[in-house]
Amino acid sequence: VGHNAFGHATAENVMAAVKTGTAKAPATPHIDYAAYRKDGGYQTWLDCLSGKRELESVLKTMEDAGLRGLGGAGFPTGRKWRIVRGEAGPRYMAINIDEGEPGTFKDRHYLERDPHRFLEGMLVAAWAVGIESIWIYLRDEYHACRETLEREIAALKADPPARPLPHIQLRRGAGAYICGEESAMIESIEGKKGMPRLRPPYVAQVGLFGRPTLEHNMETLHWVRDILEKGAGWFASHGRNGRKGLRSFSVSGRVAKPGVHLAPAGITVKELIAEYCGGMAPGHEFYAYLPGGASGGILPESMGDIPLDFDTLQPHGCFIGSAAVIILSKHDKARDAATNLMRFFEHESCGQCTPCRVGTSKAAHLMEAKKWDNGLLEELSQAMADASICGLGQAAPNPIRCVAKHFPHEV
Ligand code: SF4
Repeated sequence: VGHNAFGHATAENVMAAVKTGTAKAPATPHIDYAAYRKDGGYQTWLDCLSGKRELESVLKTMEDAGLRGLGGAGFPTGRKWRIVRGEAGPRYMAINIDEGEPGTFKDRHYLERDPHRFLEGMLVAAWAVGIESIWIYLRDEYHACRETLEREIAALKADPPARPLPHIQLRRGAGAYICGEESAMIESIEGKKGMPRLRPPYVAQVGLFGRPTLEHNMETLHWVRDILEKGAGWFASHGRNGRKGLRSFSVSGRVAKPGVHLAPAGITVKELIAEYCGGMAPGHEFYAYLPGGASGGILPESMGDIPLDFDTLQPHGCFIGSAAVIILSKHDKARDAATNLMRFFEHESCGQCTPCRVGTSKAAHLMEAKKWDNGLLEELSQAMADASICGLGQAAPNPIRCVAKHFPHEV
């Protein structure tokens, strides 16, 4: 998928493959329960339970490390733990492994290799926040991951390092992009249509089954054990261009080595391509990039020196989201990518609100014109951004606006 992603002729096929997860998963041997425990796994959780690690020190370490929600929202993890802990029990946890953002495959990468690192982070979070029950929401197309998780959770439950374990349930998504949005995911877990809720109230107060809910992306929890064992300073010591931490970039498109690249937060796309991706693919010259999957916008090569992190791309109308970086070359057109993305949003809109349901459809139609009606498209973009209920409709105009601003010669 990576090598061909966003090729002019193959963009739709690739997007479909990325979205549906039909791209063949590599047969990666993973660290099973016995091997993980043999290597000191679950000791951090046991230290929490025994009092060797104190709650306040764990919360402070998480805050000092600067770990943020790696599903895309970037909310500070330690602060989230304190907020949900401050709500009356019973409290629940919902873990998002829907990984539906086009171009994102980092959660799968870690799940396939080291599932217990995430499960231990989950148990530490459950201990810190006082969680009784946990729901894990897994992308349905991740068949291999499901088998792995089912097996490893069963092994954990059969012979837990300590008792009692919180109640853990594994749920399958059903292929809807919108169910990666936290409140839509919660609706889906509750057995309803996956439609985002109006907020407030936030899920931290009124989440799963009406209870305060700690919602996390899987990768966020993957880092908990390492941060507690190696210290907040270890995580925060990584980073570049004034930013702190590590980011798992899912890189696809016209690079020599696509894949998940763990790199310092704040690295620029040019540095990422040169240092981690083996440069551009043979015969391709860097033209443009999508810094954050489908909705994070499109930027030209001339803006390839912006640090990639939460908050750094907003002034340019873009965002990093789940760090899915898609590289386009001079064989590609930004307008083709943008039009393809709008068709994707049209397809994935839950239909609940008019600006998004009608707006994405109308925009996709207008974007097919050889010469864009920029005035009309901008009016439509503003209405979608202002009046849509959730991030899908609010961010759907990003690719339009980026193309109009940075690639006017194409439209
Ligand atoms: Fe549904 Fe789109 Fe409205 Fe979000 S913005 S609630 S996806 S119709």
